[in-house]
Amino acid sequence: MDRNIQTQAIVLSVRKYGELHKAVTILSPDLGLVDAIIFGGRKGKKTALAPLFSISTLQLYHNPLKKEYSVTEGESSFIPQAITEDLACTYTASFFCEIISKTPTDEPEQTFSLLSEALTALEADCGARKRITAAFIWKLMQISGTAPDLEYCPVCDRKYADDETLFFSNPMNTPCCKSCSDSEYIVLMPGSRRYLRYTMGMDFCTAASVVLNHAAEQRIYLYMLRWASVFAQTQLRTLNDLLSF
Ligand SMILES: [Zn+2]
Repeated sequence: MDRNIQTQAIVLSVRKYGELHKAVTILSPDLGLVDAIIFGGRKGKKTALAPLFSISTLQLYHNPLKKEYSVTEGESSFIPQAITEDLACTYTASFFCEIISKTPTDEPEQTFSLLSEALTALEADCGARKRITAAFIWKLMQISGTAPDLEYCPVCDRKYADDETLFFSNPMNTPCCKSCSDSEYIVLMPGSRRYLRYTMGMDFCTAASVVLNHAAEQRIYLYMLRWASVFAQTQLRTLNDLLSF
């Protein structure tokens, strides 16, 4: 592999690395998830390199012996401002980045596009964060091939009635009919299922612009957050922050 690589990247997390340096986790459409060091990133000019949630073109250097990437240069095309000024919005962006960093993808290009669009939508309208979040989780499931069947119960193969409420099967990790379920924690109401069927296959921005009334938006939002915790198959640190709003 080339030692010098140019790639687009979204910065998912930033942390200290020794006294002088920073380490970042980035999502690249070419390389997927990458941990990289910014040497001297805590002092001088390099502090501005690769800020959290930014979208940039980065120059990476790959050291094959140490199996280590470092960021040498970068130019950001998107640096969030509204997101960082609003706490609920910051938590939302952190949640998007955490779920992506914990669910390795075979489709880094599509995941990169989705996250870029979601952060851009959030920056443009923090007030729409709940429907942006619902559309984001739903699209992420579709990209990863884990979107469930919303027409037939996957356990007993029965076709759902239009106004049927769905429950959840933990062993199969999927919504199912009431008699096949073992959990009443994740309940999909008929209105929320209609929303998911309606927006399935839409591109992210179109789906995120579908406006729901307040109660319906809250229902689908909480449902998708619960579902996200199952989908990620690991504890999401940012989920409790988000649920406190
Ligand atoms: Zn069933």
